[in-house]
Amino acid sequence: MSVSDHSQLKHRIAEAIRSVIGPGDAQLHGPKFGGNEWIYLKECLDSTYVSSVGSYVTKFEECLADYTGAQFAVATVSGTAALHVALLSAGVKFGDEVLIPSLTFVATANAVSYINAVPHFIEVEEGGFGVDCELLEEYLEKNTFIQNDECINKHTNKVIRALIAMHVFGRMGDVDRIVEIAEKFKLILIEDAAESLGSTYKNQHAGTFGKLGILSFNGNKIITTGGGGAVLTDDGELARKVRHLSTTAKLPHRWAYIHDQVGYNYRMPNINAALGCAQLEQIDFFISEKKRLFVAYKNALKNIPELYLLEDSKDCKSNHWLQALMLKEEVAHLRDDLLDLLNSQGISSRPIWTLMHKLEPFKNCPRMDLKISESIEGRCINIPSGVGVI
Ligand SMILES: *Cc1c(COP(=O)(O)O)cnc(C)c1O
Repeated sequence: MSVSDHSQLKHRIAEAIRSVIGPGDAQLHGPKFGGNEWIYLKECLDSTYVSSVGSYVTKFEECLADYTGAQFAVATVSGTAALHVALLSAGVKFGDEVLIPSLTFVATANAVSYINAVPHFIEVEEGGFGVDCELLEEYLEKNTFIQNDECINKHTNKVIRALIAMHVFGRMGDVDRIVEIAEKFKLILIEDAAESLGSTYKNQHAGTFGKLGILSFNGNKIITTGGGGAVLTDDGELARKVRHLSTTAKLPHRWAYIHDQVGYNYRMPNINAALGCAQLEQIDFFISEKKRLFVAYKNALKNIPELYLLEDSKDCKSNHWLQALMLKEEVAHLRDDLLDLLNSQGISSRPIWTLMHKLEPFKNCPRMDLKISESIEGRCINIPSGVGVI
């Protein structure tokens, strides 16, 4: 392809996106407040219970459990905090290794590091960006052994305690196989479902397959509480631990301050939960709007053979949280130019995250071969995906 062909291709892509989103600036992902947000927030202010004691927090937790089918939901101040207490409650300890994809948002790796455990990076599959189960199984067969019901890394002699499956942009990988591998290798399965509230695999909700799952309600997620997160679990004892750790490990008492371990101030404030209750009421609408956007982008881009839009993976119904454009290998070198062009035209677009094993704090962590992740990193562009861009 000549230089002018390249330039033409970039402009064709920009025009195709523009034909979907219309004129004007488009954010990558803005929130939409079209429901009971104002009413619930006013009620919350009128009650004066704006902090962590208040009825919206419990109500939000009940609604989340109801919606996802999880037995328990515990609301936290962020998705990162949810991951942190989920890992602690699962029994991940100082020095343990935790398998996580290198292709993730930094929060996953950070949370593991907060407890001085070590992220151990694994490969994802080209199609849906989920854990590559075949490669993972082969890798674990070769590099670990089981002793006293624990998975030991042959090279470091550390226990590999847990596996975090992250559902990228709302798409879920081969969850049945992930669950099988976790069982076979004695790994505690935790789902980082921060991006996938509302996504299902074989009609079961993201975040309910592992021992624990986490959600995020940051401003850019499918529903927002401003900032916030939640831990999902079916295990009552784990739910109790998560709740205890995220409320300063304070023992219930009418007036005494007794804390039986080092805890955290991670409980979601009432004012955020009020927003969450209103947002969750609209999630079906949000998902159907996102699906509509996905179909519109797909139609607009279908005549450009140099790229494709990331599709739902098998058995998964995605919430279509972020739309992902994939450049084919032969035009991957255009990624940054294309990002420049789109952003200069007011079409907010971003590359996928820098892979974790390339970041300074994690560059020496153990890892699999990450060829597929590296190829995806070089070719993936997120384009405007919020409800209301069409
Ligand atoms: C958003 C996100 C989180 C958590 O983010 P918070 O901003 O702490 O709520 C964790 N993991 C992934 C993959 C995310 O996208």
